[in-house]
Amino acid sequence: RAKLQQRTGHLYFSRNMGIDIRERVNMMHALRTAFEERRLSVVYQPQIDMTTRQPVGAEALLRWMTEDGSMISPNRFIPIAEYSGLIIELGEWVLRQACQELVRIQSLGFADFMISVNVSQVQFRHPHFLNMLRNALHDTNAPAHCVELEITESMAMEEPDALIKLLDQITATGVSIAIDDFGTGFSSLSHLQKLSVDRLKIDRAFVTEITDSSRGSSIAEMIIQLGRNLELDVIAEGVEDERQAAILTELGCPLGQGYLFAKPMNAEALHSWLGTHK
Ligand code: C2E
Ligand code: MG
Ligand code: MG
Ligand code: MG
Repeated sequence: RAKLQQRTGHLYFSRNMGIDIRERVNMMHALRTAFEERRLSVVYQPQIDMTTRQPVGAEALLRWMTEDGSMISPNRFIPIAEYSGLIIELGEWVLRQACQELVRIQSLGFADFMISVNVSQVQFRHPHFLNMLRNALHDTNAPAHCVELEITESMAMEEPDALIKLLDQITATGVSIAIDDFGTGFSSLSHLQKLSVDRLKIDRAFVTEITDSSRGSSIAEMIIQLGRNLELDVIAEGVEDERQAAILTELGCPLGQGYLFAKPMNAEALHSWLGTHK
């Protein structure tokens, strides 16, 4: 009986795996097709100065619209793109789109506007990453000092020596670095100090819990303090209501991003949104 259970258990397991892999492969093909048929797009979410409420930049976020008009979340398809390697091409395309958009926005009169682009660890580890970045900046004429790359905290913890060197090389191009979803990983102060990083993005989870209790705001407070001590810029992500914004402002958080200020929108919508916030 134990044997039977084992076998059925095994069968059940492998059948599940089969479905999982098939699903993943299907999604891989669908994603490549969508990319080729230009059904992927980039949307932009404004980042604002918490005290003046003026826009200072925007984060580029990838979108996948399926043929039936529904949206697939990047949380679902970015891992597939990483797994299949498509992220190399896709990531370069997003960066170039964002750089072109930056040039357009600046020509509309927003001279210091910044654009932030998420970078996957698969891209980051690719030997041609630095060249890809330099070429994208060169071809699009984007001012490097207005381009920011977002890496996750877990990426910032890997292979210290290689990472320190790469971040230095990126910084030398003029491009700045933000650590995304900050507070969810385990970076130590001493490690952080060695990295050429310009900005910490407080993860949405800590912004959400900020109004829960006085203890709820302690992680956000710690990150803001850390930013002050290390002279790093700090931005809170996922700010959804005025209570959160008020506490963040009180804690001295200079920048914010979230539905309270604006949702991610396409380039055209961003232009008119910026027009009303000039
Ligand atoms: P992320 O980089 O942390 O981006 C922030 C996410 O929070 C975005 O989700 C954004 O739409 C969402 N968000 C912003 N404000 C609020 C808010 O007030 N409330 C709530 N509930 N959510 C808010 P999105 O666009 O679905 O992206 C999810 C993740 O997918 C991103 O998290 C990022 O890790 C990844 N991603 C998106 N675009 C790209 C890309 O071009 N390349 C790479 N490598 N990853 C990307
Ligand atoms: Mg991000
Ligand atoms: Mg984030
Ligand atoms: Mg996040």
